[in-house]
Amino acid sequence: MKRTFSRPMKRVVVKLGSSQIADRQFKPKIRQLSALAKQVKALRGQGVEVTFVSSGAIVLGMGLLEENQRPTDLAALQARAAIGQAALMRLWAQVLKKVGLKCAQVLLTWDDFDNHNRFLNARHTMEAILKEGVVPIINENDTTSTEEIKFGDNDKLSALVASLIHADLLVILSDVQGLYDTNQKVFEQVKDITSEIEGVAGETQNIHIARGGMKAKLEAVKIATHARITCVITAGDIKGVLVRILEGEKIGTLFMEREGKLLTGDDQHEFIRSHFKNG
Ligand code: GLU
Repeated sequence: MKRTFSRPMKRVVVKLGSSQIADRQFKPKIRQLSALAKQVKALRGQGVEVTFVSSGAIVLGMGLLEENQRPTDLAALQARAAIGQAALMRLWAQVLKKVGLKCAQVLLTWDDFDNHNRFLNARHTMEAILKEGVVPIINENDTTSTEEIKFGDNDKLSALVASLIHADLLVILSDVQGLYDTNQKVFEQVKDITSEIEGVAGETQNIHIARGGMKAKLEAVKIATHARITCVITAGDIKGVLVRILEGEKIGTLFMEREGKLLTGDDQHEFIRSHFKNG
């Protein structure tokens, strides 16, 4: 039995944590990213637009500096992000070029969601990039903003971006198959994120590279589902993962969108603003 979605999934945001971009030696996972690029190409043929929210700047920066341990000093991490961001974009440009696609770098901070003009500018720019058939690659601007370095490896950013561009689906790819219950079985579908569900979510086990863990992902899912965006959490190394999710295959954990009217205009901005800070 396949999943059926409440509406056609035409606009998709795919979030990749640092563990999906680089291996334990902080070297790029080119094969995995090339596979995703191929799927983006295939989906485009079906009229599906994909936007990536990509972490990985810090780990690639560490790789370039030949480090084997993550610094603890915030400015040092921000410097790694600045060093690695260029490598991150080269990586995306390289894998997308192989399938005849181009990418655009979009760096956002929380202030961009808070300020109405900047929010609208970000939305208009995103619409124009997608209209050109170019794949947006979004990251936090780690030079001026430190929310995701401290907290969630772009989980929350991905939910805000999905809401900003009125995405239909948010796919969070990481190194777990989905949300596990207490018997280590993956939930196939979650309607409400209850305190019981939150209770089974832990911090990341892969502290070497990944940040945030399931708790941060559930926070992101809460924001996105409230904005009426369906979410899937699953592993990035599953063969054909994006195409198969969109075909309705029961991969990972599906979080159903909340019922109710879709927020638009000022209401939507207010909703996003209220979630732009932690806490
Ligand atoms: N935006 C950061 C990055 O792309 C966050 C991840 C982290 O804290 O390692 O590297």
